[in-house]
Amino acid sequence: MSFELPQDLKARLCGLASIGVITGAGISAESGIPTYRGKGGIYDDPEQGDRTIEALSAPTLRMDPDRAWQAIAKIAGAAHGAKPNAAHYALVEIERKASRFFLLTQNVDGFHAQAGSRNLIDIHGDTFKLLCMQCGWRGELGRVAGHEPCIQTIVATGKAPLCRCGGTIRPDVVFFGEMLPMAKVLRLHAEFYDNPPEAVISVGTSSMFPYIVEPVLLAAQRGKLTIEINPEETEISAHVDFHLKAKAGEALTAIAHAL
Ligand SMILES: [Zn+2]
Repeated sequence: MSFELPQDLKARLCGLASIGVITGAGISAESGIPTYRGKGGIYDDPEQGDRTIEALSAPTLRMDPDRAWQAIAKIAGAAHGAKPNAAHYALVEIERKASRFFLLTQNVDGFHAQAGSRNLIDIHGDTFKLLCMQCGWRGELGRVAGHEPCIQTIVATGKAPLCRCGGTIRPDVVFFGEMLPMAKVLRLHAEFYDNPPEAVISVGTSSMFPYIVEPVLLAAQRGKLTIEINPEETEISAHVDFHLKAKAGEALTAIAHAL
């Protein structure tokens, strides 16, 4: 059975030209990727949660890269073998239909790019993109053995991958205690603040960070259409025009059809 949008939402979606979307871990949950802060998420674990956050911090990456990579391997290992789901593909369809579209994601699983989203701001980076901390070499994290550095080898050995120059390789993601990449912050400001879209859709995020919450609240203040898709209540639920407590794949597919 497909999900039915409220009639008044359908009416407002019809003919929309510009849309900004914000996604969090919830959108990848349907691909089998664990969420971070949500119920049962990686950081929600009472015994391991804080230790995982510590392992994914800038000081750990410097002092004990093997430990940082063991935590990364857990996250990348979950994404490896999983695939983008209906929600990621519905966003590609929405981008195709809208004359202006942009997608801000907090996810590091690379699924939006893999599905085919184009105007993408992956504010926290992509686990499958690599960077040498010493010489600046850039490359991709291999998904199968033989394409080193490879996720399977790292999971098996628990060792941080090394560059040919001898330097430690890191994933091109933002660790705890690191700044957001300035170029991406500027893009997000230009898209959401300087020239706000007609509608902002927030999908599957617990909305903890100000840069995730503010674009939605600002759009609501300016009388733009605001939609939240999340089975749980969050900080923004009371402020949006429509809170759809539905699966991301069903709700976004319905929205793509209504445009
Ligand atoms: Zn290097």
